[in-house]
Amino acid sequence: MRAAGLVPRPWTITANLLTQLMNSVFADLPTTVFTVMSALARECGAINLGQGFPDDPGPEDVRRKAAEAVLDGDNQYPPMMGLPLLRQAIATHYAHHQGLDLDPQAEVMVTSGATEAIAAALLALIAPGDEVVLFAPLYDAYLPLVRQAGGIARIVNLSPPHFRLDADALDQAFSDRTKLVVLNNPLNPSATTFSQADLSLLAEVCVRHDVIAVCDEVWEHIVFDGARHVPLMALPGMRDRTVKIGSAGKIFGLTGWKVGFVMAAPPLLKVVANAHQFLTFTTPPCLQEAVAYGLGKDDAYFTAMRARLARSRDRLSAGLRERGFTVLPSSGTYFLNVDIAPLGWTDDIAFCERLVRTHGVAAIPVSAFYADSPVCHLVRLCFAKRDATLDAALDRLDAVVRRAA
Ligand code: GLN
Repeated sequence: MRAAGLVPRPWTITANLLTQLMNSVFADLPTTVFTVMSALARECGAINLGQGFPDDPGPEDVRRKAAEAVLDGDNQYPPMMGLPLLRQAIATHYAHHQGLDLDPQAEVMVTSGATEAIAAALLALIAPGDEVVLFAPLYDAYLPLVRQAGGIARIVNLSPPHFRLDADALDQAFSDRTKLVVLNNPLNPSATTFSQADLSLLAEVCVRHDVIAVCDEVWEHIVFDGARHVPLMALPGMRDRTVKIGSAGKIFGLTGWKVGFVMAAPPLLKVVANAHQFLTFTTPPCLQEAVAYGLGKDDAYFTAMRARLARSRDRLSAGLRERGFTVLPSSGTYFLNVDIAPLGWTDDIAFCERLVRTHGVAAIPVSAFYADSPVCHLVRLCFAKRDATLDAALDRLDAVVRRAA
């Protein structure tokens, strides 16, 4: 017997009409660059240094906890705000690692990944006509969500190699119409972290204009060379106006788990929870239990994880330099950037297309993180990979410089 759903059905309305019926924020949106590049990597048999995910299976004890929880635990709806066990573990974790004092009942919520947390925060907090300050390079989810909420984006472009904040640019972007600012720190794709001076500058502007800060801090644990992450929430005047977002997927290198956290003062969190309840409502309880266990790991675990990643960063970076690439410094995230201008390239999209199709290495063009798609000459590579994967990619990249020379 043939399933009816498998028989192609002719469209009864035209593509044009369909587009008119749709919400233009989403109808006009391209597929996210990470999905496009991963598909292209599969199609070309390329080594995928594009989308940011490790190629090891992740901590076995944490995965085992999830497996045990599936078999022996409760698999019905967990509480909408998250398992009390996990919310407590989140509060304890951030008190220990970042000195934050969060009430697990009123100030912590679990989401299905940080992207859901960002969506819930932006949809809940932005009203039509509100101005929203964003910094480019910006993660590709931000702008469509701000637009869907009716927000008017004010984008401040940050410049390589340091991607620092600038007082004049902030003064131009912020006004009394500004409702909210979105900060990603450490910053993807630049692999930079904002300095204490940058954060103080931003905090001062937020307080002066009475603005809420939504802080995407999913890379907070992945900072190198002895640096410590400073949450914007900890700066003077920011405690009750910051929505802090974290990600277990990033913390444990289990990116497919999609377990995120939102931390905010009770009145803010309540509104964000109102959006969350109709986005995903809950997150698989087995994963929540395992994350609660993982967040309690001792400092040595996190130190070793950072050291491993820093070693991979150094391996890829040294290999690229030896081969004649210009590598920008990376002080956090899974990424480093190469400047392709010295190779005679000015268009990062064309370069990445060539890289994946001709050389068999997938990367991400940094222009995908700018709203106005400037022609950009930075290319992002993910180093959260086994040595053998990085070495194989380097072998393939050898030909790129030779060909350009
Ligand atoms: N955060 C990941 C990256 O920057 C991508 C996540 C995704 O594909 N949605 O590579």
